[in-house]
Amino acid sequence: MQQEMQKQVHVVKQRIHTTCCIVGSGPAGMVLALLLVRKGVPVTLLEAHMDFDREFRGDTLHPSVMEMLDQLGLAERLLQLPHTKMPTLDFEVAGGTFTFAHFDELKTKYPYITVIAQARFLAFLADEMQRYPHFKLLMGAQVDQLLEEDGRVCGVSYRGPDGRYEVRAPLTVGADGRFSRLRKLAGFEPINTSPPMDILWFRLARKADDPRGVFGRFGQRRIIALIDRQEYWQIGYVIPKGSYQRVRAQGIASLRQAIAESIPFLAERVDELVDWKQVAVLSVESNRLPRWYRPGLLLIGDAAHVMSPIGGVGINYAIQDAVVAANVLSAKLRKGEVQTRDLAKVQRRRELAVRLIQKFQVVVQNMVFVKTLQGDGTFQVPLFLRLLDRIPKLRTLPARVIGFGVIPVRFYT
Ligand SMILES: Cc1cc2nc3c(=O)[nH]c(=O)nc-3n(C[C@H](O)[C@H](O)[C@H](O)COP(=O)(O)OP(=O)(O)OC[C@H]3O[C@@H](n4cnc5c(N)ncnc54)[C@H](O)[C@@H]3O)c2cc1C
Repeated sequence: MQQEMQKQVHVVKQRIHTTCCIVGSGPAGMVLALLLVRKGVPVTLLEAHMDFDREFRGDTLHPSVMEMLDQLGLAERLLQLPHTKMPTLDFEVAGGTFTFAHFDELKTKYPYITVIAQARFLAFLADEMQRYPHFKLLMGAQVDQLLEEDGRVCGVSYRGPDGRYEVRAPLTVGADGRFSRLRKLAGFEPINTSPPMDILWFRLARKADDPRGVFGRFGQRRIIALIDRQEYWQIGYVIPKGSYQRVRAQGIASLRQAIAESIPFLAERVDELVDWKQVAVLSVESNRLPRWYRPGLLLIGDAAHVMSPIGGVGINYAIQDAVVAANVLSAKLRKGEVQTRDLAKVQRRRELAVRLIQKFQVVVQNMVFVKTLQGDGTFQVPLFLRLLDRIPKLRTLPARVIGFGVIPVRFYT
């Protein structure tokens, strides 16, 4: 009898019916779920991991995201959680500090980048959604199959902690990140551009009297990003593409020495770095899909376009995709009328912004990154950036592009 019941429960669990099935609870999937459930659309959100913790994930929320959260009445509550504010984006260069982006001069209630652990941000949004009975978050759900009927995607099949399940929905959204399984299952091939660098990520202790915030240090053929994670520094050490094995062969002591030379206040802490196991290698990629949708399926965020890390715009763009998707689709989903042309509209509204920022990233990569890594060791801030900084009307352009995206996006409440 007990066995019968268990079997029955299992059968019921195997097929969940919802209106929108979202795969991936990163920034894109989580924000889309939030915006849709608030509009009354039933959503099931599937996440392969059992928690939101990831080593070295981006932790930046841009003014556009904060404004959107403010529209939803969530920004002030989010700011109660531990975070730091980054009013400018600075580069340390041989001649001193160059401020690339003046967020503090933007006309917004949130004139800074909010640096908050991404796991904390995602958990905050997940908590907020628990009060909507038509929202379901399933952790440990590894999606590995698209369900199709008459040429239309009608849901997914996934491996859960205790067996196989299905979610059926008129719309499935792939928000499953840079290695998107749904993208592969749908047969989509991205157009790749190969940024000329990779990044080594590691952490070193942070002391109370260290400088605060996020900054980059350029020079001596090195580019190093420092991100203040309160208890520690997250450090990104940029290396030429494909050179990891060569860097590694030089030994961990040579990495320690490079950090100590470039960032003197960390010199007495570099000994914490004893093994390459402490170092994660990020193969930097940049790509975009020519087509983000198929009948019944839409891809957003990194699944549709992986961003180069320049400007730290990946999270912002992923969330902006979610906002546009919610604007275009929520009323249609409520009526059960989503057409393929609606999915095309989401891509049309976002694609130009993605293409423009990726072009801008290529220019910066070539003018700044390649020259610094391969040049004679000196680093000059490019003339166009110095000029931009001196023209009052253009001075805030980099901050606006990074903070709000090339084409700003607003949520229609
Ligand atoms: C090391 C590193 C540092 C970065 N730093 C920054 C930064 O400072 N600022 C910034 O803006 N961007 C940064 N980025 C980029 C940023 O993290 C991404 O652009 C952003 O997270 C994209 O959001 P997303 O929701 O599209 O995808 P993701 O955040 O990648 O989320 C995808 C989710 O889908 C889940 N998933 C994957 N496959 C499956 C499956 N088969 N079934 C179910 N779930 C699945 C994953 O577990 C994950 O939770 C960084 C990226 C890296 C790798």
